[in-house]
Amino acid sequence: MTQQYALKIIPLQSSSSGNCIYVESNGTGLVFDAGISCRMITRRLADFNVSTEKIQGLFISHEHSDHISGAGPFHRQYQFPLYATHSTLEAAEEKLKNLHEIRYIQHARPVRIGPLTVHTVKTPHDCSDGVCFIIEGGGKLFGIFTDIGKPEAGIARALTKLDAALFESNYDERMLTDSHYPLFLKKRISSGKGHLSNAQSANMLGQYGKKLKWVCLAHLSIDNNSRQLAYKSVSETVGKKSQVIVASRTSSTGILYV
Ligand SMILES: [Zn+2]
Ligand SMILES: [Zn+2]
Repeated sequence: MTQQYALKIIPLQSSSSGNCIYVESNGTGLVFDAGISCRMITRRLADFNVSTEKIQGLFISHEHSDHISGAGPFHRQYQFPLYATHSTLEAAEEKLKNLHEIRYIQHARPVRIGPLTVHTVKTPHDCSDGVCFIIEGGGKLFGIFTDIGKPEAGIARALTKLDAALFESNYDERMLTDSHYPLFLKKRISSGKGHLSNAQSANMLGQYGKKLKWVCLAHLSIDNNSRQLAYKSVSETVGKKSQVIVASRTSSTGILYV
């Protein structure tokens, strides 16, 4: 039976406390970030009848714990290659420990794995060499755009091409201002090297997400955002042209198709 979709996507979790996204096309699976434990990734994939045997690689966007805390054990357990840029690997080395197979990502050089091609877009996020991912398969483009920092032109350009996206909507400005977070942390989050607010995300998606069939709002802060606020601000700008979904902050979101 031929598959009825170009890409199958399962956000296994996405929030400031852990990110991990599964993408599959024609039996080839890739995992993007592993900020939750190996056991959790395995269990959540099994919930959707996805065998880890399909996984051909683990891609790391940057070295922050909410993206790599489970990466070392997950990579060692199943023995697929780990993909990251040179600088990210250097910065993450201590946390990742022994890696058996590393493939370096080079900017502007897409990585081809079976029916999937992975492109990177650089971000100004406060890490060594942060990237967003664009995954191409079956003629469609899906983006994993979190830890963005600020609405840069390169990100906006990439967004115009996407058929679907998992897109950061990290905090509500009022909730962050009123929160118990120390001032330095509030400044870090809202700076151009931190995260996008609901309002920034809504503006970008409304202005540049013209082709999006759906957008899954992601990397929501546990303390400084609510699913309702994120949903409301983005729905107002994207209108009826794209479906708006909010990723679960503590568990998997379900299966999404492009
Ligand atoms: Zn980060
Ligand atoms: Zn993050």
